Amino acid sequence: MLEMEHELRAIGNGQAELINQTVHVDYDNRRQRPLGFSSNGRYNKVINLLGTFKGDLSPNDLTYLVKTVDGNTYHLYLHLSDSDPLHTRSPVRWTLDFRVLKSGEAIVLPLWKSSAHMRMEGVADFHGDLCPELILGCKACHMALELLPELNTLRDLIVIAENNNSPALDAIQFVLGCTIGNRRLRVIDNNRHIYLFVTGTGGYGMKLSLKEIRFNDEDRFNEFERKVVEGCATLNDAASYQKLLDDRVAKLVDLDNEEVFAVESARKCFMCNNFLTESLVHENNGFPMCTVCQSNMISNNSDIVYQ
Ligand SMILES: [Zn+2]
Ligand SMILES: [Zn+2]
Repeated sequence: MLEMEHELRAIGNGQAELINQTVHVDYDNRRQRPLGFSSNGRYNKVINLLGTFKGDLSPNDLTYLVKTVDGNTYHLYLHLSDSDPLHTRSPVRWTLDFRVLKSGEAIVLPLWKSSAHMRMEGVADFHGDLCPELILGCKACHMALELLPELNTLRDLIVIAENNNSPALDAIQFVLGCTIGNRRLRVIDNNRHIYLFVTGTGGYGMKLSLKEIRFNDEDRFNEFERKVVEGCATLNDAASYQKLLDDRVAKLVDLDNEEVFAVESARKCFMCNNFLTESLVHENNGFPMCTVCQSNMISNNSDIVYQ
């Protein structure tokens, strides 16, 4: 995944050597992937298929971004437009479109040289790419530890996340060591970026809720994202999408934590052990309680009194 990202960045920056040569390609029909191709009397064995895209010349065309055994990345273009499966099949034609210039020749994103990136590198390797929601997760962890440094040394730090499929969860697992497996990461499927960082025995913590962030690219972003998710992106679409993702990552890295998350302190209900934000806590002779437990207790007491 990271490899694909790097190549899309290079392509988005125009770092490609145009070849545009008709070539013969060995194609594995069952696994739907190129195995190798001959060019200038040399056979280039494909060792890794980085991505498959829609061609932009005609609707049926497909393209393949492949890594070859010599360490180069090539873009292969499969022209299928003129083949008609109902009649005599015209021979498919392949073009070796371009080679991606290697990283030594490539311009490096400012972000990739920054210290922020050095810190993000491990978590991006763990997660598979460097994407905006991964940054959100990292920022949430760092903010929680800044506000309550003792959480880091407690073995009972628990994170309760209100979504079950965000890359932010990988950041939490990597940065804090709270995992589903050790039961220190709990997820509630509310599909929103709200994260509660609490000490189980201490009974207190912080609730971070994502603020609304304007990237001013929403229409383009959603359009490219839809294409990529539905598998109808061309290589250019994918490179443009990568550029937008990188811009969002860079913007999020630059923002102060306070601009990204709203903070409320939280406490544990003495009765049911649920965590709630300070504004919802009822004090009962010094014991914090949630609304439900509070009203249960009142009605139980009144039962006793009036029976
Ligand atoms: Zn990701
Ligand atoms: Zn309660």
